[in-house]
Amino acid sequence: MAIVPEGMIADLLTRDAAFAAVETVFAAMAAGAAQNFPVVREAMPTEDALYGFKGGVAPGVLGLKAGGYWPHNLDKNGLINHQSTVFLFEPETGRVKAMVGGNYLTALRTAAASSVSIRHLARPDAKVLGMIGAGHQATFQMRAALETHDFEKVIGWNLHPEMLPNLAAVAAEMDIPFEPVDLPGMTQADVIITITSSFAPSLLAEHVSPGTHIACMGTDTIGKQEVEATLLGKATVFCDEVAQSTSLGEAQHAVASGLLKADAITQIGAVINGTHPGRTSADEITLFDGTGVGLQDLAVASSIVDTAVANGTATIVPI
Ligand code: NAD
Repeated sequence: MAIVPEGMIADLLTRDAAFAAVETVFAAMAAGAAQNFPVVREAMPTEDALYGFKGGVAPGVLGLKAGGYWPHNLDKNGLINHQSTVFLFEPETGRVKAMVGGNYLTALRTAAASSVSIRHLARPDAKVLGMIGAGHQATFQMRAALETHDFEKVIGWNLHPEMLPNLAAVAAEMDIPFEPVDLPGMTQADVIITITSSFAPSLLAEHVSPGTHIACMGTDTIGKQEVEATLLGKATVFCDEVAQSTSLGEAQHAVASGLLKADAITQIGAVINGTHPGRTSADEITLFDGTGVGLQDLAVASSIVDTAVANGTATIVPI
């Protein structure tokens, strides 16, 4: 089996490779060629931690990501609070194939998902990127969006304004102007990424102009919410996987309150495959509910293993 530890991932995984792996697996999911398994997520008896498994099967890929959230890690151990590891198996035999560090991979695969949505759903003339959220994931989201589309300016809002320099630093690095705004100022944006851990909506329908594409990336748990539910009623809604979107994604609230029907939500893979037209007018609001599926992790991990085995950096252990 191949072992690719966390410390090696940043040198092996490019944003382009993550984008390609995620786009391909979303397409396979919509075509019925790939399947995510039910998610297990349990409270640990110690450390106030949550631990679980996200697995799935796609052409050439079988496995799971094991991991979770240890809220005291940073203070007690100097480690980041999110910890995960991906295990891959041979789909033909079930034999273990690889063990891959999952932390940096998770950030890049999540950013790749919103970027895939921007590539397929944003107006081609989109100029202003709006960021809601300025934490760990936000910087990855912003960088990937700027590499995917030719934006001219980034605007940002965060509940905790002292974190906005995180976004300003990425903008400076990528040589693009950055402007902090209040929420009504988001009407300037052509594309908005929401990536917060909020349990109440920040972005309201009145903060969004016609023609905007919104990628809702923070809501991945029952109860979380970043966007006013009426916005989903007004928008054309896309997602990674409908079952997750309606149960633990941003759409959970609009579906529960009857503003959106589950069968009106389209898997983005259908747009990638060309079986759904995606955006059909310049003033349509499109919204991608990116809940994060196990197959994103497995597809990206598989691409990392291929690279690491090909360039001789993976540790190969006999089984
Ligand atoms: P983080 O702790 O680094 O940042 C949290 C962000 O949320 C900060 O910008 C903070 O100011 C903001 N925030 C906190 N409480 C808020 C509130 N009440 N209202 C508005 N904003 C608030 O977290 P992170 O690692 O950047 O993750 C952000 C979110 O993304 C989390 O909810 C996480 O679970 C989720 N996530 C989703 C995926 C996916 O695939 N969709 C993957 C990884 C993480």
